[in-house]
Amino acid sequence: MVGADQDMQSAVAVEGDGGATVVVDTLAKRQGANQLAGFDIAYAQSDPGCASPGCAFSGCASPHCAVPGGALLGGEREGFAETMEILNSSRIGIAAQSVGLAQAAYEAAVQYATQREAFGKHLSDFQGIQWTIADIATNIEAARLLVLQAATLRDLGRPFVTAASMAKLFASRVAVESADRAMQIHGGTGYFAPTTVERLYRDAKITEIYEGTSEVQRMIISRNVLNEQGQV
Ligand SMILES: Cc1cc2nc3c(=O)[nH]c(=O)nc-3n(C[C@H](O)[C@H](O)[C@H](O)COP(=O)(O)OP(=O)(O)OC[C@H]3O[C@@H](n4cnc5c(N)ncnc54)[C@H](O)[C@@H]3O)c2cc1C
Repeated sequence: MVGADQDMQSAVAVEGDGGATVVVDTLAKRQGANQLAGFDIAYAQSDPGCASPGCAFSGCASPHCAVPGGALLGGEREGFAETMEILNSSRIGIAAQSVGLAQAAYEAAVQYATQREAFGKHLSDFQGIQWTIADIATNIEAARLLVLQAATLRDLGRPFVTAASMAKLFASRVAVESADRAMQIHGGTGYFAPTTVERLYRDAKITEIYEGTSEVQRMIISRNVLNEQGQV
């Protein structure tokens, strides 16, 4: 799959069987063209989340696209390995994005729970709601610490791949659960668009999918921790 926005600003492609990584927009601009010959936006993709402005996705096809050697970011046929290297670091970014989504959901939930009255009380006066808020707050704090740990290890030049996968695995789940619980606290009000919580609910899910799914993170973590124990 190739990610690109419709204006060709940030298309990154792994060509064929991991042959090369190219940044298409850079190449197109170098050639003074708006579009790269042989590289087509095949169809506009709509998705339920990633609602931020400027975040659009398209299917791309490049069956007849000749890429000059100078446009390669790395060595020929090393694209897959290089992309995996990039993903190790960018997972920390997605984990941080997840914490931000979860925090926004938490703040929306607290604000609504302290304002909305039902059965003569604010929602936040009910113990069931208080426990939900406590769980969200605790999970966000744990996710944030995992992100900081992974980022710190990377900054120090120490092994960070397992920590990055743990941070992404955990934080993305926290984002999904926090958005889910925030919508629950909003009741029917939160289900309708456009509201903050319905957007967060849609946005959160992708964090469990891109930059390596949660299943892939579990594979990485288990392989590394078993390796450390000399079990594989
Ligand atoms: C909005 C969006 C933006 C994206 N942006 C980019 C981008 O910028 N660049 C880019 O390169 N890609 C991008 N992607 C692609 C994304 O990284 C992939 O969708 C993701 O890695 C999953 O791959 P797949 O869709 O082929 O699923 P599949 O590989 O078909 O997997 C389907 C399901 O099976 C599970 N699964 C697969 N293999 C195993 C296994 N061995 N054991 C257990 N479970 C398994 C997966 O975890 C997943 O749940 C984007 C995707 C989306 C939706």
